[in-house]
Amino acid sequence: MTDTPPTLTCANHPTVETGLRCKSCEKPICPKCAVLTPTGYRCKECVRGHQRMFETAEWYDYPLAMAVAGILSFLGSLIIGRLGFLALFVAPIAGVIIGEAVRLVLRRRRARRLFQLTAAAAAVGSLIPILLLLSSLLMGASFMGILFSLLWQSYYTAMVTSTVYYRLGGIQIK
Ligand SMILES: [Zn+2]
Ligand SMILES: [Zn+2]
Repeated sequence: MTDTPPTLTCANHPTVETGLRCKSCEKPICPKCAVLTPTGYRCKECVRGHQRMFETAEWYDYPLAMAVAGILSFLGSLIIGRLGFLALFVAPIAGVIIGEAVRLVLRRRRARRLFQLTAAAAAVGSLIPILLLLSSLLMGASFMGILFSLLWQSYYTAMVTSTVYYRLGGIQIK
């Protein structure tokens, strides 16, 4: 009896022999219990733990990330106003810079809700020149006079908001 090679049995199904081990916790798992992840087979418990890791943001990450995104987006919106059609090229870059700055602040902490709020903060930060432009209408500025400025600023808002969101969301794919 002792000359048979030691066989593993699944940690969840003691009667099922298996050659698989979870890549994270090393416990033997049968094919039914194994979950294929990009880095190998894992047990369901480890996969669940891994998913929980995706929501690691602390409470202070929210005001911090939103402040960084809002302020940088506001500063960018001031610059965009002076660029004219160059805004087409600069707005996506601004979005990347803001996204990277937020990532720097967050290190590797993350939460889906946090990314949404941060993108929203970037949107709000970029709206001030638009509001100023619209209020200049009330003061008698002609609509044609501000049309292009309005166009570039709106483009900037759309670009920055979406780029920041997808930039941050990209953390989750890793
Ligand atoms: Zn495991
Ligand atoms: Zn099993």
